[in-house]
Amino acid sequence: MLNIVLFGPPGAGKGTQSEKIIARYELNHISTGDLFRKHLNEGTELGLLAKKYMNEGNLVPDSVVIGMVDEKIKSTPGVKGFIFDGFPRTVPQAEALDALLSSKGTPISGMVALDVPENELFKRIKERGKTSGRADDQDNDKVMNRIKVYNDETLPVAAYYKKQGKYAEIYGIGEIDEIFNKICVEIDRWK
Ligand code: AMP
Repeated sequence: MLNIVLFGPPGAGKGTQSEKIIARYELNHISTGDLFRKHLNEGTELGLLAKKYMNEGNLVPDSVVIGMVDEKIKSTPGVKGFIFDGFPRTVPQAEALDALLSSKGTPISGMVALDVPENELFKRIKERGKTSGRADDQDNDKVMNRIKVYNDETLPVAAYYKKQGKYAEIYGIGEIDEIFNKICVEIDRWK
């Protein structure tokens, strides 16, 4: 199996690149942000729980995220692999993901990290907010907090995969296809 973690700050282009990676490598997409938004729209208990964290741009507690991902992995047997988008966002989440996958006998192949400067992230998120309908894309303080939470809580996840020799960094500014081609070079090395 090919299991890819697509990493990067909010607004780095993970959603856009995920779609292209899925199409090329036939992977199953697990975006925790999308899953939470689905729960929120459906008004489930999990959605209500996640809402107060998401609205402030804070992280949903690890146990909740890990439980949701576990369920999602278990409900999709026989796939070629997974692309994890927006997950893991903390080191305990990364450790839990390793444990979940090793119980399936398949490790993480590698992490692709999209590197985008902060001023560009801010611009992109505010632009996306005009059409995404996401409250967390529209408010300056919330956007700033999401970037801060990424720097404080999520960046250490990159070191976790670096230590395992499973890390590749791609500069995330330029044409979408140009960035995608660079990502593919890395993924092809892990196939
Ligand atoms: P995203 O669409 O990935 O930007 O996620 C939107 C929001 O969902 C985040 O700001 C968090 O509140 C929550 N969220 C998504 N993924 C995670 C995760 N792996 N851990 C904790 N919270 C998450």
